[in-house]
Amino acid sequence: GATMAKSKFEYVRDFEADDTCLQHCWVVVRLDGRNFHRFAEKHSFAKPNDSRALQLMTKCAQTVMEELEDIVIAYGQSDEYSFVFRRKSNWFKRRASKFMTLVASQFASSYVFYWRDYFEDQPLLYPPGFDGRVVLYPSNQTLKDYLSWRQADCHINNLYNTVFWALIQQSGLTPVQAQERLKGTLTADKNEILFSQFQINYNNEPPMYRKGTVLVWQKVDEVSTQEARLPAEMEGEKKTLTRTRNRPIPLHCDLIGDAFWKEHPDILM
Ligand code: ATP
Ligand code: ATP
Ligand code: MG
Ligand code: MG
Ligand code: MG
Ligand code: MG
Ligand code: MG
Repeated sequence: GATMAKSKFEYVRDFEADDTCLQHCWVVVRLDGRNFHRFAEKHSFAKPNDSRALQLMTKCAQTVMEELEDIVIAYGQSDEYSFVFRRKSNWFKRRASKFMTLVASQFASSYVFYWRDYFEDQPLLYPPGFDGRVVLYPSNQTLKDYLSWRQADCHINNLYNTVFWALIQQSGLTPVQAQERLKGTLTADKNEILFSQFQINYNNEPPMYRKGTVLVWQKVDEVSTQEARLPAEMEGEKKTLTRTRNRPIPLHCDLIGDAFWKEHPDILM
């Protein structure tokens, strides 16, 4: 209550640490699913990529962007999502713990709330959790390199997992045998195994799996049908209403290189 008198206990507030994020830096919050190796198994995720799980993650990230302030771009892959707050954000006076806990709790509650929309016949068996961290990037270049790093991680893991699971699912290898087969192989070797043994051209795999998901704000026309209010003789008729709104839109594009940033110069303003 704002009008409450100060008590003699008030001094304990001074024990709180100052965790203000340095001015003018990009604030990145990255979440990662807790023990999702097990979570994926228990909930029968398709291997190597369960598209329902990826789409649920993106729905949660869109909810975070809509509900919280000042997020200009997000990037997700596997069980992780990164959120970038605009440089000059003064949301909650830039307190790192506020950024991190609000992102993590909004994301986790959304994961449970929207679960059924994506996993229709797979019940949620226990409450999932997400860890969070805050990292500051002092320049546009370091922020771009951060996002490139996450996308490179997505590429490396997905190429490995695609061959690994093809060896198991299509060639009948055990996980240990598949791991042995891949030990010491380079990118070119993995592409070659995929092509010669499984007729898979890695570049034709779905972009959502290869590139992850980028969320950017875009204007979209939204059409809604409303019950016409007046005049009385038109009662029951519907009229359509078109409104232009800013929404976080998923892209599965390249973040490594300049093309993306040239197409979206407003993000780093
Ligand atoms: P902020 O986001 O800054 O925390 P807030 O609206 O949550 O804003 P708080 O100071 O945390 O502000 O106050 C929580 C408010 O939630 C209370 O003032 C009260 O109105 C309401 N509230 C919380 N728990 C209960 C409860 N069990 N019964 C009735 N009201 C509650
Ligand atoms: P930690 O708590 O340390 O993060 P973890 O088990 O979550 O442990 P990660 O390195 O985060 O380890 O790996 C996440 C794991 O979740 C992946 O290795 C994969 O097994 C599984 N996973 C996440 N998303 C998917 C998906 N969409 N499809 C299939 N498997 C997935
Ligand atoms: Mg409150
Ligand atoms: Mg309170
Ligand atoms: Mg981990
Ligand atoms: Mg994890
Ligand atoms: Mg992870």
